[in-house]
Amino acid sequence: MPQSKGPIVVKKVDLLLTNAIVLTMDEELNQYEAGAVAVKGDQIVAVGPENEIVKSFEANENIDCAGKVLMPGLVNAHTHVPMTLLRGLADDLRLDVWLMGYIMPVEREFVTPDFVRLGTSIGCAEFIRSGITSFNDMYYFEETVAEATAAAGLRAVCGQTILKFPSPDAKSYEESLALARSFIEGWKDHELIVPAVAPHAVYSSTEDLIRSSASLAVEYDVPLHMHIAETSFEVENARRDLDMPVVPYLKKQTLFDAKVIAAHCVHVDSGEIKTLVHHNAGVAHNPSSNMKLASGAAPVAEMLEMGLNVGIGTDGPSSNNDLDMFEEVRLATFLSNLSTNDPTSLPAVTALLMATRLGAQALHIGHLTGSLEEGKRADLILVDINTLHNSPRFRHNSDGTYAQLVYASKSTDVSHVMVNGNWLMREHRLTTLNENELLSETVDYAKSVDHFISAREESLLSKLIAIGEATEAESFEVQLKVRIDDPASVIKALESDEIEIIYDRHYREFDTYFIFNDKSQGQLRYREDEFINEEGEVEQIRYRLTLLGAPHEHEYPSDVVLSRSRFLANAEHSLRFYREYFKPDEESEVQKDRLRWLIKFEDTEFYVNIDRLDKPDLGHFLEIKSRTWSQRDAKHKSELIIDLLTFLGASVEETEAREYVLLAKSAE
Ligand SMILES: [Zn+2]
Repeated sequence: MPQSKGPIVVKKVDLLLTNAIVLTMDEELNQYEAGAVAVKGDQIVAVGPENEIVKSFEANENIDCAGKVLMPGLVNAHTHVPMTLLRGLADDLRLDVWLMGYIMPVEREFVTPDFVRLGTSIGCAEFIRSGITSFNDMYYFEETVAEATAAAGLRAVCGQTILKFPSPDAKSYEESLALARSFIEGWKDHELIVPAVAPHAVYSSTEDLIRSSASLAVEYDVPLHMHIAETSFEVENARRDLDMPVVPYLKKQTLFDAKVIAAHCVHVDSGEIKTLVHHNAGVAHNPSSNMKLASGAAPVAEMLEMGLNVGIGTDGPSSNNDLDMFEEVRLATFLSNLSTNDPTSLPAVTALLMATRLGAQALHIGHLTGSLEEGKRADLILVDINTLHNSPRFRHNSDGTYAQLVYASKSTDVSHVMVNGNWLMREHRLTTLNENELLSETVDYAKSVDHFISAREESLLSKLIAIGEATEAESFEVQLKVRIDDPASVIKALESDEIEIIYDRHYREFDTYFIFNDKSQGQLRYREDEFINEEGEVEQIRYRLTLLGAPHEHEYPSDVVLSRSRFLANAEHSLRFYREYFKPDEESEVQKDRLRWLIKFEDTEFYVNIDRLDKPDLGHFLEIKSRTWSQRDAKHKSELIIDLLTFLGASVEETEAREYVLLAKSAE
């Protein structure tokens, strides 16, 4: 039947939201009061003044939104959602101690698809309560994150993590790349999930890994999510090891051929921002995480002025620790003002735009969500601003409502959440998730993690093993240490025909001993070895960590020789890292100049060291030692050691069968 001209044709829709304070967050920042929104299926079909909308549409359901702001759902631009289960595991630590000392060991032990499913569901419940309708994730088993998110009804960009190390879901980066490919193929046309590839960060990637990740993202036209320039440490290391800052390096590796979502960008300069703008990369700003971990303040105002799409993210719940976007938006303005010394640097309306339309654009899903506009998906929230903590309400300034939302609203004021045309929360009640069930599931899980951590904290050795720094291979040494007056005579004796010199070396050694009140734990020694070449120059430095087992010292023929267990490892981290991780009760420093020989005496190999102790200043010592594997062997070698000592002209009388650290202490 042809439509007749004349009165407006009333169209049928599923839902009319009326009598609301509508903030569209569109290009013109249109606001309507009283405003209305019409929803049909998964889409917004009209937004405008209520009197116009109600004339044109008739709905199956009408909701009166008196006293409430109706706005697009918030976009959480960067998170690791399953980490809700690691929330509060370890706090008040530096990033490396937190990550390598606690998070990664627990992840290696506990992260499975079940962990990821539960953690994601908890995170989704929290997101919905906080008015978040879309988020951008990076974790392991990302397909499970996608499944749990779709079941909760939320929209997400889900990035499968790619790391150069083995991870909970892949033994190698090639394996995680294959995982990402099959995940993308399976989910690329999903109505809620946008699959993505997520190389973790420059410091956890190789060149090849970055290039392969970028080309995978380009091949399927999906986003690429990466941590970029989060800390000054990361940037300094890039300058040192890669000869350039992080962004130029990534550009060289073709990263920006992909639709990049760059998390953090705390330490970028104007040139790097220009590169990001030029390649249409999105940035995720994470104020809580950056403040908690003291990473710094991203130049957000400058980024926005240069035309970058900057969203706001909560980051993972173990570096925040909550997933409250209202708090995040508020902190974004405060941090910007404080760091630029300018209270006008990031106005409320701009911060709210970052949390909605700009955030969606940063995630490359701006065509779907982020504003209330005809044709976009129905991702919207209702926020009650008729509360005591948000009154009174002034009308003289048209931006007043933005300021109310950013500076005074709380996530608990969100009463309704809709994603893709479906209600996920109505009148504060979740429709797709059971919070009580989720809560009870976390109890058992926390018990097993507590048990794991407590067991590991019981001994230095298990703490050492937990950070992957020692395998459980114990070695015993027979050793002897005596004070000598004249090293020259010992050196001359070593030239004798009865001794075969296999090699000799010269080192400077800087030792830091970690001492614990519980002596049965033994001690840890962090050693910096500077190898001195024939020209007297430092040729090579190595760092080693040794656990010296104190308790089971067995004493042999005379009390000058002992054997003890040792666990030796290359020290991958800084002294500061180990200090914060092991928390010694006391420390002691020893510096010495060491001449070392590996020799053969009576068909047996020995190390002979002549040490000059500079700190504390204790003169010269002769040390002889040999590896041993059995009690019988130890007895034989300890007898030989005495012979060798006598041969070298030193006297057993001068023996100090103790570690230098004890000497150091007595010298204090
Ligand atoms: Zn992160």
